[in-house]
Amino acid sequence: MFEIIYHPLYGELNEIELPKPYFESYESPLRCKLVWEYLKKIGYALRDFKRTEMQTNSQKNLVLKKPIPLKKDDLYLVHSKHHVEQVEKFTEDGCGQLGNLVRATEDTMEIALLSAGGAYEAIKDVYSKRNTQAFAIIRPPGHHAIPDAADGLCVFNNIALAIKKLRKELAFKGRIAIVDIDAHYGNGIANVFYEDPSVLYSSIHEFDFSMGDWGRFSEIGIGDGLGCNISFPVRLNSGDEAIKKYCDFVEPFLVKYSPAIIIVAAGFDGHWADPLGNLRYTSDGYRYFAQWLKKIARTICSDRVCFCLEGGYNLLMLPRLIETIISEFINIKCSPPVDKIPYKSIFGYGSTSEYIDKHYNSQVDKIRKRLNRIWKLMH
Ligand SMILES: [Zn+2]
Repeated sequence: MFEIIYHPLYGELNEIELPKPYFESYESPLRCKLVWEYLKKIGYALRDFKRTEMQTNSQKNLVLKKPIPLKKDDLYLVHSKHHVEQVEKFTEDGCGQLGNLVRATEDTMEIALLSAGGAYEAIKDVYSKRNTQAFAIIRPPGHHAIPDAADGLCVFNNIALAIKKLRKELAFKGRIAIVDIDAHYGNGIANVFYEDPSVLYSSIHEFDFSMGDWGRFSEIGIGDGLGCNISFPVRLNSGDEAIKKYCDFVEPFLVKYSPAIIIVAAGFDGHWADPLGNLRYTSDGYRYFAQWLKKIARTICSDRVCFCLEGGYNLLMLPRLIETIISEFINIKCSPPVDKIPYKSIFGYGSTSEYIDKHYNSQVDKIRKRLNRIWKLMH
């Protein structure tokens, strides 16, 4: 069965009130609320969660489950005392700038613990084979949050916390691979596991090669974790072609690493209609990714895949892109795509592959060779 994790509070708490759409206000309860309403509309969810904690939709091979929040003590598995205290203080005040692009409300602590709890529930159930795959429709996102601070709309690092808790409570020592498809580099996840060879973190993300940022090709881990951070920066406006290139690039490393479970940091802000990302993916790109992932998960980790929602701020596209992913895994025909607008008429050019030029390809080859050299020695 495929498990969907959702809590009604994701659709209610932590509404940022700002006079105009600053970045922070895009991370809104409507994101999850509309996904849930859409899942009901297409017959994936059967009813709202009230007292019931779980519902089974046997027709669609789905289980839907309400998670419980992480405990405050769990936060110390990843985060510093300072950061936890900051979140508590700002939540008490009910306002203020908690970190870079993170505003606090009186709900911040509650929703952030519930978001991490959702990630843990999904990953735990996939790990323990209670369900083979899962999608945690959670918010706020987590992949930018570093141990000592909130960052980029993220309060706590949901995936890192879930992995550390799984290690502690279920004594799981096996390898875990994280594939991050959010439009932005998950600097928080990379930070937590940068020296840890038991977690392979890999990300495809937009990168302004003229400015520089986190997530360069050369960020490949350090010490024992050398080679276990695979960063695949792509140019702005790259389109679906970049997803295909990334899948080809990372596949041999994932196969060789042979993780027990693959976790996807599932951000959808790479879609062309997203107000924050700049990658111009379409639903075809996400479908390609889901098909590819399903195929390799069968080969390397007995189908165990767990998606945790990260970014994705176009309220019309987010529900449909999540449907695109889930429908591939439960073998149901997806609703027809609604994002088939010719690029040329909007952006003034047709092909996207022209953006991935010779120089870029030579950089990809170089890093592939370098990682192969390191992996030969280490794995
Ligand atoms: Zn993002």
